Amino acid sequence: MTNDENSDRTPGDGRRAELAANLTAVEERITRACEAAGRRRDEVALVVVTKTYPASDVRLLSELGVRQVAENRDQDAAPKAADSADLPLTWHFVGQLQTNKTRSVAGYADFVHSVDRLRLVRSLAVAAGGRDRELGCLVQVGLDAGSEGTGPRGGVSPGGVAELADQVAGSPGLRLAGLMTVAPLSGPYADRPREAFERLREISTRLQADHPAATMVSAGMSADLEEAIAAGATHVRVGSAVLGVRPRLR
Ligand SMILES: *Cc1c(COP(=O)(O)O)cnc(C)c1O
Repeated sequence: MTNDENSDRTPGDGRRAELAANLTAVEERITRACEAAGRRRDEVALVVVTKTYPASDVRLLSELGVRQVAENRDQDAAPKAADSADLPLTWHFVGQLQTNKTRSVAGYADFVHSVDRLRLVRSLAVAAGGRDRELGCLVQVGLDAGSEGTGPRGGVSPGGVAELADQVAGSPGLRLAGLMTVAPLSGPYADRPREAFERLREISTRLQADHPAATMVSAGMSADLEEAIAAGATHVRVGSAVLGVRPRLR
C-alpha cells in the first residue's frame, strides 16, 4: 500500500477490519447452526460480550451493525455504557452481581442475565424502581449447583428456578424475560454442553407454562454456540470469537 492510500486511514481502521471479519465468521457459524437445527436465523440474537475491551471497540461494533452488547463487571461496564450512550445498543449484564452494584447496573442495563438469589431480586427491584421501563431479568440456572444454593460460576439449582421466577414476576419494576446458563466446567454436565443446553430447554419449557412471556433462552458462547442453537437458544453470548482472546481470564 502506498502512503497516498494510507493517508485517509485512521488508527481504528485495522481494528475495524478485524472486527468485521470476525463478525462475518460468527454470523456464518450462527447461520449454519440455524440451518442444521431447522431454525430461522431471526430466532437467534447475537449478543457480543465486550468485557475487557475498550469503548472504542463498542463504537466500532455498533457501526458494523451490532445492536446487543454484554458486560460482566459493573466497574468496567458503567463507564463504557456512559461513553456509548449515543449508540443504539441494548445492554446485557451477564456477570455475577453483588447487591451493592444493582443501582449502578439498573442505570444502563436493559437485561440482567445473572439473577440467581432472592436477595438479588429484591435489590434489583428497588434499584429499578425509579426507571421509566421495566428491567428485563433472566434467572441464571446453575446446572452445577447443589440442590441448595448457587453454582461455582453463579446460577440457582434447577429446583430453585420456579420460586425465583415467581419472585421476579411479582416485583414491580422487573420483567421476567427468561433463563440463562453457562455450560458447567464441573459436575455431571462437564464437557457436555449439548446435554446441558437441552436440560436448560426443558427447564425453560416448564417455566413458560407458568410465565408464557419468559421466552428468552440465553446460552452458548464462542466455544459452544452451535450446541446452544441446536438446543433452542434464543440469545448467544459471544466474546472472544468477535473481539479476540482476552489478555486474562475473568
Ligand atoms: C465472557 C462471557 C461470555 C463470552 O465468552 P467467550 O468464550 O469469550 O465467547 C459469555 N457469557 C458470560 C457469562 C461471560 O462471562
